Amino acid sequence: MAKAPSRYPAALIFGAPGAGKGTQGEILTRVPGFFHLSTGVIFRKLDPQMEEARQISEYCKRGELVPDELTVSIFRNWLEGRRAADKFRPKEHLLLLDGIPRTVNQCKLIERYIDVKLVLYFECVDMEVMVDRIRRRAVMEGRPDDASESVTRKRLETFERETTPVLNYYGDSLIRRIDSSGLPAEVLAGCLQQLIPVLKENFVFE
Ligand code: ADP
Repeated sequence: MAKAPSRYPAALIFGAPGAGKGTQGEILTRVPGFFHLSTGVIFRKLDPQMEEARQISEYCKRGELVPDELTVSIFRNWLEGRRAADKFRPKEHLLLLDGIPRTVNQCKLIERYIDVKLVLYFECVDMEVMVDRIRRRAVMEGRPDDASESVTRKRLETFERETTPVLNYYGDSLIRRIDSSGLPAEVLAGCLQQLIPVLKENFVFE
C-alpha cells in the first residue's frame, strides 16, 4: 500500500447547523478530486450496540458537543479505514471536512494529520432560516436531534460559543466566505471557485 503523506491537505466546510454544509459536501464528493467526510454522519452510522455509540448519541440528542478526544479518535479511525479500503486516496483527494474541527482543542488535535489549506465559511445571517431548514430536514431524515426546536436552538448556541473561535484559530488569510442562502447551484459555484485553485496547488493531474 502507498505510504500516506504525513499530513493530508484539507478544506473545511464550516458553518452553523442548517447552513447547508451537508448538501454541498454530498455534491462535491461526486466531483473528482474531493473526499468529503462529515463527523455527524460518521457518528450516526456507528454500530448502536457499541458503548461509544451510545455515549455519542446522548451528547447529540442534548445538542452538546461530543468530547474532543473521542471525536478525534473516531474521526481518525474512520479516515484511516477509508484509506485502507482505497476509498480515500491521499494522492488524489483533497479532504473536505464537514463538522470537524468544532473546537479550538480539536484544531490542535488534528493538526498532526491534517493540513488545513482553506476554510469555506458558510454564512447564513438569518437564524430563523437555519431553524426552518433543520425542521424540514427532521421530517425528511428522521434525525432525533433535529426533531426538537429547543435542541436545535441549543446546537446553534453551542456553535456560537464553542465553534466560532475556530475561525480565529485559522485566521482571515484562510477563510473564504460563502453566501449559503443562495440556490444550491449558486453555492456550489462559489465553493468550486475557491476549491479549484487549492486542488491545482496540491495535486498533480495527468
Ligand atoms: P449539525 O451541523 O447540523 O449540528 P452534524 O450532523 O454535523 O449536524 O452533527 C450532529 C451532532 O454530532 C452535533 O450536534 C454534535 O453533537 C455531534 N458532533 C458532530 N461533529 C462533532 C465534532 N467535531 N465535535 C463534537 N461533536 C460533534
